[in-house]
Order: sequence, then structure tokens, then C-alpha cells
Amino acid sequence: MPEFDYDLFTIGAGSGGVRASRFAAHFGARVAVAEERYLGGTCVNVGCIPKKLLSYAAHYHGDFADAAGFGWSAGEIKFDWATLIAGKDREIARLNGIYERLLISAGVTVLNGRAHLADAHTVEINGKRVTAKHILVATGGWPVLPEVPGVEHAITSNEAFHLKDLPKRVVIGGGGYIAVEFASIFNGLGCRTTELVRSSLLRGFDADLGAFLAGEMGKKGVDLRFGVHLERIAKAPDGELTLSLSDGSTLACDMMMYATGRAPNTSSLGLEQAGVKLSDNGAIVVDDHYQTSVPSIHAIGDAIDRMQLTPVALAEGMVVADRLFNTATRTMSYNNVPTAIFSHPNVGTVGLSEAQARKQHGAVKIFRSTFKALKHTLSGNDERTMMKLVVDEATDRVLGAHMVGPDAGEIIQGFAVALNCGATKAQFDATIGIHPTIAEEMVTMREPVAG
Ligand SMILES: Cc1cc2nc3c(=O)[nH]c(=O)nc-3n(C[C@H](O)[C@H](O)[C@H](O)COP(=O)(O)OP(=O)(O)OC[C@H]3O[C@@H](n4cnc5c(N)ncnc54)[C@H](O)[C@@H]3O)c2cc1C
Repeated sequence: MPEFDYDLFTIGAGSGGVRASRFAAHFGARVAVAEERYLGGTCVNVGCIPKKLLSYAAHYHGDFADAAGFGWSAGEIKFDWATLIAGKDREIARLNGIYERLLISAGVTVLNGRAHLADAHTVEINGKRVTAKHILVATGGWPVLPEVPGVEHAITSNEAFHLKDLPKRVVIGGGGYIAVEFASIFNGLGCRTTELVRSSLLRGFDADLGAFLAGEMGKKGVDLRFGVHLERIAKAPDGELTLSLSDGSTLACDMMMYATGRAPNTSSLGLEQAGVKLSDNGAIVVDDHYQTSVPSIHAIGDAIDRMQLTPVALAEGMVVADRLFNTATRTMSYNNVPTAIFSHPNVGTVGLSEAQARKQHGAVKIFRSTFKALKHTLSGNDERTMMKLVVDEATDRVLGAHMVGPDAGEIIQGFAVALNCGATKAQFDATIGIHPTIAEEMVTMREPVAG
């Protein structure tokens, strides 16, 4: 008889938990995974995937307008929210099924229900106790709402995906990536959209990205209000919300969505009782191998709050599966993790921001170009694109590549490989551009704008 019911018990079948469980089973481990809500976790159900589908939908609005400059004319343009949400729900149900089949075909036992730790080797789920040699906590994150009177009338991104009707007037609170993405989605779908931003857009990223994006989002019609925050929300019997702002003004709207951050989903899991250390914001403290302060318990993904990104959770899950059940003992690098923000226009970024590079490397050269893409010479659209390279003056290495413009994520993905290979600016210059594209600007910026 084996000492434990399973070799690995994973709590949470999101991006990281599914990946670690599947690969652990592939390496021969006996694995069970518990999921309390939806297979695939945040990314599949209320994150990356549905958001990008909504973002595509919102893009059509501008595309129809752009088409006129190329000679196209169409009848009255109409948008039906119910059709979009039904299509999105169908796709997510399909993905939930794929996740279930992936787990089952890998030999993983899937348990539906909320799990918590009873001790270092025991999990309790649906009133039953299950033992495991290793336990992996992959419970993700959850939106945080500020303590504002009337906050119960506001929603988060979780609910935004399931609205019955598209509101006419929307207010988004926050300046982070989820806030700008949803402001762009609602604005693109025709809602009158206001975004309340305490300081600047996209704090933590290269400062030019947020500043440039603000200008472009403003041109597309988003009413960005900086330096203000919400002090109170009141709801009238007809459903109208009145927002009292910190500058003394009020704002009427039909929907208020907060996107002011996400916290690790680690409460009521029995972690502290089992001896697992948490940081002040509730993130599980782990070492380079994702082992917690209790050797039999590991943690990955948004629950450890290193980088809240799906590919990062997947990579962390692989490291754990590899280390516990395969021969590899590699660690993962968080350098040059590329990411995109699906605002309109998109943002793509990899490597160090200018401020980080100056702090870490001292002298840097900055190359920056802003321009109107060829397409918009006929479309009449006044959208502009910005590209920026941050280069180490001592070694000529490109430390950061940043962009605001169409398909920025698609473009930056390739440059992330170059940065990971340690490419120099001279190698960028020696690379022939693809003409005519937007991306060619990344290899044709010759004169630094700042040193
Ligand atoms: C609106 C939005 C947009 C995003 N867009 C992007 C994007 O474009 N690109 C990107 O890379 N990332 C994006 N992210 C972030 C990405 O979704 C997360 O980083 C990723 O899902 C984290 O994976 P995870 O495995 O740590 O947790 P999750 O995917 O959140 O999975 C955790 C799972 O654990 C389950 N669970 C929690 N507690 C228990 C319990 N006690 N018992 C059983 N089950 C439990 C939850 O129900 C959930 O299914 C977005 C997030 C949001 C909210």
C-alpha cells in the first residue's frame, strides 16, 4: 500500500495547476486536482481569453470607419451584445471541455469542490480527507475592491463578462492593464466611457507607454480623468449610479467597474495553520523551486504574486512538475518576460523600462519613434504608433523594447527572443526590415533621442 493516496494533490485547476498536474501525471505521478469553480481558471473563464474576444469585437467599430477611406460602404452598423456573449460562452464551454479531457486523458483525477489544507500532507474536500506526498497550491488571485461607501453597486472584471445588457454609460476605476483594456472594450462597443485614474496609466511599465496610450485612447473617445478617485457610489431606484469624485464633481453612469488590482486567493485555505508563510499581501512565500516554508507544499501562479500572467504560471507549473517527478532541477528566469496589453491601440513590452535601465545600468541610449501607420494615410484615422528601444551604452545591448500600436503583442513576441539572446543595437541595425510594415521601425531607428 502506498503511504499516501496521491503523489501530488493540486488545489486549483487554473493555468498553473492544470499544467503542473498534467505533466506530473505524464512523468508517472498519481495526481488529483481540485477545482471549486471552473476548469481552466481565470485565464479561460474571466481573463485573457474572453477579454481578447471582447477586444476583437470592440475593434470592428473602428475597422468599419477605417474601411470607408478605402472605398467601402456598408448599411447601418449594428452591434448585438447578446450575440457576442453567447459566442464567447460557447467558446469557453468548449475550452472547459478541452481542459477536462486533457486532465483525464493524462490520468489526473479531477475533483469538483473547494479544497483546503488539513495538514502538511492532507487536503480536505467535500467533507473527505485525502493525503498526498506533495501538495501544490495554485489558487490564483481575486479582484480587490476599495472600501468606498456604495461599493456594492460596482462590479469587477469577473462580472463584466456576464452583463445581461451593454450599459450606455460606463465608468472604469483604475489605470492598470485590466482597466485600460476594459475602457477600450466598452468604448469600442459604443458605450460612453470614462476612466478614473489616480496617477498615471500603466504604472510599473515604461513611462512613455502609459503617456502615449492616454493620448491615443483619448482620441478614440475615452474620457480619461487623472488625479481623481471615487468617494461614494449612490444608486437610484431606476438603476442609475451617481459617483461622487474626489474633485467635488459627480458623474452619472449605468455601470461602475473597478479594476484596481488583484490579490492572491489564499485566505481560508488552512495555509497558516499548516505552517505556510504568507507575505503581507497574502502571497505565498516560496523559494526558487516554488517550495513553501513547509517542504511538502509548493505554490505557483498568481497565488505567489510574482508576475500575474498565464505563461508565467504555466512555466512555474512545469518547473514544479519537473523537479518533483522528473530529473530536472531548473529554475525559471523572470527576465525579459514579454507581455501585451490589449487596449486600443495595443501595447507590447519586453525587458527593462527606461527608468529601470537607468537605475540598473547607468548610461543608456533611448531610441524612440512616433509615426502614422501607412494604413491610416487612407483611413483618415488619426491613430499614431510609438516604438522605443532602451540600449545599454556600455555594451550596446538592447535592454528594453516597447511599443504602442496595432498588433503590438504579435510584434514584441519576436523581439523578446532577440532580447533573450542578448541582441545588441548594432545587430538590430544590421537586420533588414520587412517593408512596408509597422514592425520595420524597430530595426530602422538610427538616432538616439536621449542619452
Ligand atoms: C481580466 C483579466 C485579464 C487577463 N488577461 C491576461 C492576458 O491577456 N495575458 C496573461 O498572460 N494573463 C492575463 N491575466 C492573468 C491570468 O489570467 C492569470 O495570471 C492566470 O490565470 C494565473 O493562473 P493561476 O493558475 O495562478 O490561477 P487561476 O487561473 O486563477 O486559477 C486558480 C484556480 O483555482 C481555483 N481555486 C481557488 N481556490 C480553490 C480552492 N480552495 N479549492 C479548489 N479550487 C480553488 C479557482 O477557481 C481557479 O480556477 C488576466 C487576468 C484577468 C483577471
